[in-house]
Amino acid sequence: MSGYVPVTLPPLPRVRCPWQGRRMTLEPGLSGTARITAKPCTGAPLANGWCEQHQYVQQLLDYGHALGYPLVWLNMHLWIGRGCANWEAYAVRYPARRQSQVNFVVGQLYKKQVCG
Ligand SMILES: [Zn+2]
Repeated sequence: MSGYVPVTLPPLPRVRCPWQGRRMTLEPGLSGTARITAKPCTGAPLANGWCEQHQYVQQLLDYGHALGYPLVWLNMHLWIGRGCANWEAYAVRYPARRQSQVNFVVGQLYKKQVCG
């Protein structure tokens, strides 16, 4: 099920996987200031533009396409904004540990749409 076409992400074929992790480091010393930096993926992209490790991200974008990219609340503090660009912005930092939660919430919406 894919009719998804990248909007803000590079078109296919891609030279690299667009996923960007977040790395939190603590400043040395007592201040304990946390700094969050992007950690780009170094995996080789497959046909859909994501590396093997980040294939699950494509499923989110496929769901988004099927649903018309609605605003989705994943929990009280975390949401995916309306529109393809917002879904892509979430997709590039969508961590594997959120997979079951996201699949549950987005999958429910999808089922509701498909089954009425
Ligand atoms: Zn990757």
